[in-house]
Amino acid sequence: MSTVGQLVPARIEWNVQGRITRLTRLDTRSTALPVVLPGFIDEHIHGACGHDVMEAHAGAWEQIEHALSRHGVTAFLATTITAPWDDLMAVADLARQWTPSPLSTCIGMHWEGPYLDRQYKGAQPLEAIRAVNLEEIERAIVPLRHAERPLRVMTLAPNESSADQAIRLLTDHGIHVNMGHSGANRSQAWEGMLAGADAITHLFNAMAPLHHREPGLLGLGLSAENLWLELITDGIHVHPDIVRMVFQLAAHRIILITDGISAIDQTPGRYRLGQWMVHVDGVSARLDDGTLAGSILTPDQSLRNLLQWGVPLREVVQAWCEAPARRLALGGRGRIEEGAWADLAIFDAQYQVLSTIKNGHVLYQR
Ligand SMILES: [Zn+2]
Repeated sequence: MSTVGQLVPARIEWNVQGRITRLTRLDTRSTALPVVLPGFIDEHIHGACGHDVMEAHAGAWEQIEHALSRHGVTAFLATTITAPWDDLMAVADLARQWTPSPLSTCIGMHWEGPYLDRQYKGAQPLEAIRAVNLEEIERAIVPLRHAERPLRVMTLAPNESSADQAIRLLTDHGIHVNMGHSGANRSQAWEGMLAGADAITHLFNAMAPLHHREPGLLGLGLSAENLWLELITDGIHVHPDIVRMVFQLAAHRIILITDGISAIDQTPGRYRLGQWMVHVDGVSARLDDGTLAGSILTPDQSLRNLLQWGVPLREVVQAWCEAPARRLALGGRGRIEEGAWADLAIFDAQYQVLSTIKNGHVLYQR
């Protein structure tokens, strides 16, 4: 287990409700003990094991949950991509109807779009990007805050017309807003932040690069203390040197994500991302024109990457577990302490997942 960022030998006990009741320090120098960390919380993931959130089918979402449990995930947000309105409404219907079981790890949704900046669409389909429409948001999107799988996060571009009103509307109803897929300049990003946006979607990707005279969305993210920073650590979306730099600047504000797609745990080939087919070569997922289209990163691989790049374990755990739990107000998640939920990922010495536990119940065992 980890206390204040150090691994110490300990016994963890929990009750039948799944709450940790006691942590007891063990007097041993054994190096054979497994490593126990809080379960990973991924607020931005589109699919896994051949299934995509946009299938809008309970069986597909269950398969995704099951696949992610093999990678230590105890909570995630089913993340949409920009798609025709009817497709988004099909996802909304599922989120309203799919009654969660106590061990379900899908704890809600993240809508990535459809109100994005066409210039920075990344792999989001151009024809499905919509102009901000406050009436549509109020009628169809805000009520999803109270769905069985609630809408917790929405990514939108703060430089689009009426974006700050949309941000106010969403945040007034408790939906967090990420700024992303956007060419926002510094003042547009600042206005978005003042309107209530509290995070940036996959920092560095799908936004203007850093310019020292026009910091833009990226520069504001690096410098503003009250923005969370989503970061993809597959070594392809952001170079490891830059990942290290962001940890040095703002470790306490990083929320690690995978942006993973259906090709996770699959052999190289062609896979679905929303309505796209994506080429997967074993390390990355790209559209025909070479644009990166999500990733095939898993949280446990991210952990191994970051440790290899020299990021301290304490900071990795903070960014994979504590930070998203704090941001999304997931009480009792993201930390190993008395009273918290027993949501745990257990590893061997090489940080390969041995088992995953949710509310004290084993979801996966190798
Ligand atoms: Zn994404």
